Amino acid sequence: MDFTVSEKMQAVVSMMEEFVDRELIPMESEFMTKSFGEMEQELGKKRDMVKKMELWAPNHPVELGGMGLSLMEHALVSEALGRSPLGHYVFGCHAPDAGNVEILHLHGTKEQKERWLQPLVDGKIRSCFSMTEVELPGSNPTLMDTTAVSDGDDYIINGHKWYSTAADGSAFSIVMAVTNPDAPTYFQASMIIVPTDNPGFNLVRNIPVMGHAGDGYFSHGEVLFQNCRVPKANLLGPEGHGFVIAQERLGPGRIHHCMRWLGICRRAFDLMCQRAVNRIMAPGKTLATKQIIQSWVAECAAQMQAARAMTLHAAWRMDTAGHKEARDEISAIKFFVAATMEMVVDRALQVHGGLGMTDDTPIAFFYRHERAARIYDGADEVHKVALGRRILKTYEGRTIK
Ligand SMILES: Cc1cc2nc3c(=O)[nH]c(=O)nc-3n(C[C@H](O)[C@H](O)[C@H](O)COP(=O)(O)OP(=O)(O)OC[C@H]3O[C@@H](n4cnc5c(N)ncnc54)[C@H](O)[C@@H]3O)c2cc1C
Repeated sequence: MDFTVSEKMQAVVSMMEEFVDRELIPMESEFMTKSFGEMEQELGKKRDMVKKMELWAPNHPVELGGMGLSLMEHALVSEALGRSPLGHYVFGCHAPDAGNVEILHLHGTKEQKERWLQPLVDGKIRSCFSMTEVELPGSNPTLMDTTAVSDGDDYIINGHKWYSTAADGSAFSIVMAVTNPDAPTYFQASMIIVPTDNPGFNLVRNIPVMGHAGDGYFSHGEVLFQNCRVPKANLLGPEGHGFVIAQERLGPGRIHHCMRWLGICRRAFDLMCQRAVNRIMAPGKTLATKQIIQSWVAECAAQMQAARAMTLHAAWRMDTAGHKEARDEISAIKFFVAATMEMVVDRALQVHGGLGMTDDTPIAFFYRHERAARIYDGADEVHKVALGRRILKTYEGRTIK
């Protein structure tokens, strides 16, 4: 195991950090008060700057115009960009497009790649991913009501999804739907590309999340598929392989998320420490002189260091041994890093007092939007139960002295 960061990657990460500090953080106060639609043009200019610097799409393959970084390298990038809510979008490595690029790259046909993949990597279009349903548990997506029924050369899709992140303004959705109801459970569903201008694709609303419905890229859509007819040529991978492909998509995605969360931790931690050393609580006494604050700072620093080491180790395992071998590490970081972020952001907010509740710092934004980290891509409990079960299984039939 070697976590040495190459000189090339050190240069890449520091260029990105510098860009975030110089170009993105100054935009944040405007971003807090304006819609995505109002900011899109300005963000587009920043994207052009990133492309000129040849730092665009760090995680995507070189042949598609990305930087082709390994998972371990992209983990470092994701941490650097996660310090601002705008980082991943401006550098073209944002969810859910990043996962959809991976699926299309691995499983798309030549036509699908030309029509959907290349414009997606180029940042000319956006996409969403529609798996979770309103009426059934996302934690067990094999219970799925959405169907794609064969009709000649087409499928007809009917179903009710929600939390299709960034559906508003997306060019297409990758939809999970049951195509083979009589097959074994994990081979019943397929992934199908549905253009959002299809009359059967209905964006019902952007769901209000913690009081904010958002718009465009920063939103979560409720989507009704009503007799949505799409050609069978839009099937991604073999019929019935939706869950197999979904598993491939989720592994790297969890590493990206965890490192992004560590970027959020760093920003919140820096703001917390800065506030503590500057806030005068009594003549000659700053908040930083209080032992409880010192203890919080120490605990946050240790927890962040542990979370970072665990995540880089999981990325290294994925790069060297593959997704299946790294699944314990991935389950562990998914709940551990989410809890670390929750703790660090909460303490940063507390240290800021009333200011922490305002949008004058990004902490309240992180607090509102990142609570979901403990729910999406497998809720905490799902990962804990799965990891605990696998660990306990290794003890069956053993005698420990
Ligand atoms: C911000 C955000 C973005 C999202 N983006 C997308 C997206 O782009 N596309 C998409 O398809 N979906 C998306 N989702 C949906 C997400 O994947 C689901 O919310 C998640 O899978 C949980 O499903 P559920 O909400 O139906 O909760 P349920 O499955 O009903 O679970 C509710 C709770 O039950 C508990 N629980 C579940 N299973 C177990 C278990 N085995 N043991 C013990 N307790 C358990 C957990 O505490 C869990 O939080 C997003 C969600 C959020 C919040």
